[in-house]
Amino acid sequence: MTLAGGNGQGGSAHRAPDCDALVIGAGPAGLTAALYLARYRRRVRVLHDGRSRALGAPMAWNVPGFPEGISGAELVARLTRQAELYGAIIERGRVERLARSAESNLFEAMLADGGRLTVRGLILATGVVTNEAALAEGEHDEAVRTGALRYCPICDGFEHRGRRIAVLGSDLHGAAEAMFLRQYSDDVTLIPKWRVALTSGQHAELAASDVRIEKRQLLRLAHRGGRIEVALAGVAEPLTFDTLYPALGSEPRSELLVGLGLEGDANRCLPADAFAEPLIPGVYGAGDVLAGLDQISTATGHGAAAATRLHNWLREGEGHVMADQR
Ligand SMILES: Cc1cc2nc3c(=O)[nH]c(=O)nc-3n(C[C@H](O)[C@H](O)[C@H](O)COP(=O)(O)OP(=O)(O)OC[C@H]3O[C@@H](n4cnc5c(N)ncnc54)[C@H](O)[C@@H]3O)c2cc1C
Repeated sequence: MTLAGGNGQGGSAHRAPDCDALVIGAGPAGLTAALYLARYRRRVRVLHDGRSRALGAPMAWNVPGFPEGISGAELVARLTRQAELYGAIIERGRVERLARSAESNLFEAMLADGGRLTVRGLILATGVVTNEAALAEGEHDEAVRTGALRYCPICDGFEHRGRRIAVLGSDLHGAAEAMFLRQYSDDVTLIPKWRVALTSGQHAELAASDVRIEKRQLLRLAHRGGRIEVALAGVAEPLTFDTLYPALGSEPRSELLVGLGLEGDANRCLPADAFAEPLIPGVYGAGDVLAGLDQISTATGHGAAAATRLHNWLREGEGHVMADQR
């Protein structure tokens, strides 16, 4: 989309801001931030490139207030509607670069389609990208839909209790996830993606908790009949599991920090308290892109807090704050 307010050329120094706040990301964090900012009567715009991880959650059972569960897509739709009710403008568009102008104290967002937006404050709610397991074309998303492939034991370990579970991961992260899942099942196997990178002490810890470690080389993963088949070198028949949890980590989408002079923080998780402590004055973070618990309820909490901090910072600039409260 091309933003109506952008002239596509000039710098921000001589431009009036297009809005008070730009929220980048329309997942639970960004949409909650937009809701709060709109209700603080801020002119708020949300830009997103359609890649909220919540959209991939077929059903979430641990979102407070939804005892029957809610799909991630339905939650995003509801949050979008709620923020729009109060005037938030939510549009599709990828932000390619951010910059700040020292003279004007404004920020500028450059979009992939050439549009520009000049704003007073920013909330980065850009999430992370999950490192996915490799399944044959078309099988991955279907396996997520059937529940055979899951990415978040905190989210749905409960729903898979008593099942035959595999964890895909070669290192301490995978081992820790396998241990975590022992709370839900007596039948947990750690399958290294490559070679096992665990110490003998870590092997012993897993053995003591009855977590099996598969030593044969992984050849292939497949989704068959709502279960996951794991083909291993030297084994005629694949092993079959009710559920596979890949523990391959994720990549934070924090590359936009480069344009704000925060190169050191780019491509890493933002500090865990970035929803409260600005990265630089007027710039906050929220949701999965922060270090910490990647969950919908955490993301919405961050969004509310970041929006409130940003609103108060804007009020300070406007002189509407008691001096002793600053
Ligand atoms: C399969 C699956 C199941 C899950 N199940 C659950 C569950 O049951 N319960 C639970 O609590 N959590 C669950 N989660 C985790 C949950 O989805 C995330 O914690 C949540 O979505 C985080 O919200 P967020 O707003 O921080 O990030 P996201 O929802 O990932 O949103 C990030 C947003 O940033 C946008 N964006 C990023 N960079 C740019 C850019 N440069 N320009 C424009 N837009 C950009 C994206 O398009 C997106 O809109 C699950 C995750 C997955 C993958």
